[in-house]
Amino acid sequence: MKIVYTDNNATTMVAPEVVEAMLPYFREYYGNPSSMHTFGGQVARKIDIARQQVADLIGASPEEIVFTSCGTESDNAAITGILRANPHKRHIVTSRVEHPAVYNLCKYLAQNGYHVTELGVDSAGMLNLNELADAVREDTAIVSIMYANNETGVIFPIEEIGSIVKQKGSVLHTDAVQAVGKIPLNLSKSTIDLLTLSGHKLHAPKGVGALFIRKGITSSPFIIGGHQEKNRRGGTENVPSIIGLGRACELAKKYIAEEQSRVKQMRDKLESEILKKTPDPRVNGHKTLRLPNTTNMSFEFVEGEAILLLLNEKGICASSGSACTSGSLEPSHVLRAMGVPFTAVHGSVRLSLSRYNTMEEVDYIIEHLPPIIRRLREISPYGRETKLKEQPAQTSART
Ligand code: PLP
Repeated sequence: MKIVYTDNNATTMVAPEVVEAMLPYFREYYGNPSSMHTFGGQVARKIDIARQQVADLIGASPEEIVFTSCGTESDNAAITGILRANPHKRHIVTSRVEHPAVYNLCKYLAQNGYHVTELGVDSAGMLNLNELADAVREDTAIVSIMYANNETGVIFPIEEIGSIVKQKGSVLHTDAVQAVGKIPLNLSKSTIDLLTLSGHKLHAPKGVGALFIRKGITSSPFIIGGHQEKNRRGGTENVPSIIGLGRACELAKKYIAEEQSRVKQMRDKLESEILKKTPDPRVNGHKTLRLPNTTNMSFEFVEGEAILLLLNEKGICASSGSACTSGSLEPSHVLRAMGVPFTAVHGSVRLSLSRYNTMEEVDYIIEHLPPIIRRLREISPYGRETKLKEQPAQTSART
């Protein structure tokens, strides 16, 4: 069966060029980059090139990039690294819509003696910046606010957030796992102090990530061990994956304009056609301040899981929320924070595209998704009760 993969916020296909770049580092160049001999030294030089490639994509200097094992590690390293370096500061500011890598870490810290302020969002998934300004205090060690939301694609005004954080004398970390490679970033002119990225969201393999730590920011290492990564992260480097991440960043730089144009065009067509062809849909998230590849739609009185199963029968891969939370029956904490009605939270589906999708695939989804919703509505007791009249499309989005 033909597979139409539209779950790219969960993970992406490893680009063929990335696989090519990695293979020699399994087969021929297997030396340890810390070894004194030339065989290891050539691997170390290749890691330097990968570091430069990552830095180039986000407008950073190579010395500001630390390789990690994933986005979750980078988030944990960023937050706990700043807390350990500033033991007298016990307050953290974050948002209610963070990925579990930040959200659950902050919950853990709150249970272990830290004070955590969680900022809410409005119905479009946006923060209130006045609330943020009020929340940052003298003892705020770190503000951790994501760049773009994994479930809705909503993009926060991170530079404005950074200016507020700077005025208040604190440090800003942003989880940019979903933003890097999809929208242009330039950290050379930025208020961001620490930034998380993850390989598998931008066509590199799973199990590799990076943390940007701005020059001058004092942070303690998260993994203590050897002298690797200039003592900022112990452990022998995952050489092939780091090289793959570097190559993926180089490719992302080349393709980023395509994300803004072709990928966005596909997403817009998908969204507008589904809205037209389905009774009672809603788009969850800001209409314009959104990643170009993501749409999160709710179909009230229908179970998201049932939609996914029927899409799956057609070979369409989508998600009912974050990949990390969709294994549980807990409704999405992001949609709940946005005040999406309970009946709509349960009927939410996220479709996330990449440069490997085609317009034919989009048309295939447009052909199959609306009949699936109609079929499920017909068998839903709530759907029948509401006698689903064709109503104008609803959206929680602001323009
Ligand atoms: N942060 C965000 C916004 C994510 O979407 C994800 C993955 O879904 C992560 C962090 C965790 O990244 P990783 O899977 O590399 O640990």
